[in-house]
Amino acid sequence: MKVAMISYNTFVGGEQNGWKSRGENRILLLQNVNGNAWGMSQHVVGSRSQAEEKWGTEAKAVIDPLWEQLQSELPTIDMVVLYVGGHGAERIIELAAKYGLVPDRATFVFCDCNLAKKMKMVREGGFSSSRIVPCECGGRGTMERLYRYALKGNLPA
Ligand SMILES: [Zn+2]
Repeated sequence: MKVAMISYNTFVGGEQNGWKSRGENRILLLQNVNGNAWGMSQHVVGSRSQAEEKWGTEAKAVIDPLWEQLQSELPTIDMVVLYVGGHGAERIIELAAKYGLVPDRATFVFCDCNLAKKMKMVREGGFSSSRIVPCECGGRGTMERLYRYALKGNLPA
């Protein structure tokens, strides 16, 4: 089984990005390359729209290179687990929709931030049949748990 996990935060401490194997199970780990627990600025001075613009720019800078590594592998991957946080996180849903990630092969890990907006994007992106796993803010504990499960051959769900 091949699983990819992608987040703009770091959720597996001390691990570099790339393929991880245990037996037949292979995980493509794609997390914050700088080891930042929080990939986005937590506090932004200015108006709501200024903050959203800043997060949008930051999210692209972190997520787009991760997505690039995922894209060429996509056809062979059984399940892609995507953390969707509160700040600039819609970028990952945009990319998944744009590049035709198969809904049945997508699991979205959602914290409560901007939940209505994220659910709307999931519907509009054609991902209504994808699995959604609720998580804490930052998603690190949940993503790490799913990573350990996946290494043991259990599909994240
Ligand atoms: Zn959150």
